[in-house]
Amino acid sequence: EKKLRLHDVHFFQAQQRVALRHCGLINPEDVTEYIACGGYFALADVLLHQTPAQVIETVKKSGLRGRGGGGFPTGKKWEMAAAAPGAEKYVVCNADEGDPGAFMDRSILEGDPHSVLEAMAIAGYAIGAAEGYIYVRAEYPIAVERLERAIRQAREQGLLGRRLFNTGFDFDIDLRLGAGAFVCGEETALLRSATGQRGEPRPRPPYPAQCGLWGKPTLLNNVETYANVPAIISRGADWFASMGTENSKGTKVFSLAGKIMNTGLIEVPMGTTLRTIVFNIGGGIPHGRKFKAVQTGGPSGGCIPEAGLDTPVDYDSLRRIGSMMGSGGLIVMDESDCMVDIAKFYLQFSQDESCGQCTPCRVGVKRMTEILERITEGKGEMSDLDELADLAREVKDASLCGLGQTAPNPVLSTLQYFRDEYEAHIRDKRCPAGVCRALLDY
Ligand code: SF4
Repeated sequence: EKKLRLHDVHFFQAQQRVALRHCGLINPEDVTEYIACGGYFALADVLLHQTPAQVIETVKKSGLRGRGGGGFPTGKKWEMAAAAPGAEKYVVCNADEGDPGAFMDRSILEGDPHSVLEAMAIAGYAIGAAEGYIYVRAEYPIAVERLERAIRQAREQGLLGRRLFNTGFDFDIDLRLGAGAFVCGEETALLRSATGQRGEPRPRPPYPAQCGLWGKPTLLNNVETYANVPAIISRGADWFASMGTENSKGTKVFSLAGKIMNTGLIEVPMGTTLRTIVFNIGGGIPHGRKFKAVQTGGPSGGCIPEAGLDTPVDYDSLRRIGSMMGSGGLIVMDESDCMVDIAKFYLQFSQDESCGQCTPCRVGVKRMTEILERITEGKGEMSDLDELADLAREVKDASLCGLGQTAPNPVLSTLQYFRDEYEAHIRDKRCPAGVCRALLDY
């Protein structure tokens, strides 16, 4: 019998699983296992005993906020979509997860696809929609296969299709495959791509709740947001709101990666500190090395130094220290990582993934990347740091969508917390972490 190791105990002790409640426990390819765990009971409950307004009120009262990164109150979004005029409405699931090192949504779709289908049907009832679409990236073949199987089984069981639970409510779901463009995770680009157009963001308003798929009111939430909904309906808004902080209720799934003992998917109550995540759940830094920083929010977020380890993970606290929640990527760095090189990596990612539609993002991010390349090659000047900060502000202020507006964050946060490393590259022609090869040969 395999003994439970100490770090296994710590890994699970501080966790609380809501969105991941079934992952690893049920066979995701068998709808009867989901039903045996209480699956589709929440849908039956709302269809048979609740009005759409009551469902929306429950979601509002729970305090659930969008888990895709924006943190917009979910119940308010549902209310806007329900209030939008028009008989034809749609429910869409954003499953276009693309942050480097993030695989939260993939795991939910692979491990518990019915929780998303059930939530979308509940959302359809709440806003008055009869059709749903899941926009999932084609690079997730197991997720796609399990979703197709789950949709087929749900239809066979009468849980999708016409007259669900013998009521007058019809709802069905179809898939739309994305081709791996990071920008298609942005809601307006996603909706365009799902209808066969070029995946480029457009200005808002109008918001998707007013004008989405084929110009109709559309409710768009991400995978993790939906996965919470059946649990909220079953266990009540007060139960969900009892977890987390005042303005960030419930739990959050993170994919823990980088220089850490225990990598993997975790789910913790909002408000858990980064220190607990890195050192208790994550087991600390391997090889006796020193912690240097943790990046939350992927290419949109920031690098948080050791002094920020007692920050609670919630939407507002992370924003206050120059980062953001993002969709849940959490990458730990140790003393062997160069923070200038890390900022360059994220900026190059944003530059590659920019749709190129607007100048501040297309040109500004490229210019910033060029400056970082010069610095890591030992060709930087001190005036470059001011230029980087100025460009970062301009790109943030003038870009059309979230990709450009947040792309400078890794640079701004590393400039704020690790300026000495930038200066060492420029003044001393030295990379303190010994990563920048050009400087080692300088
Ligand atoms: Fe495209 Fe970047 Fe402009 Fe967004 S900010 S629309 S990704 S060019």
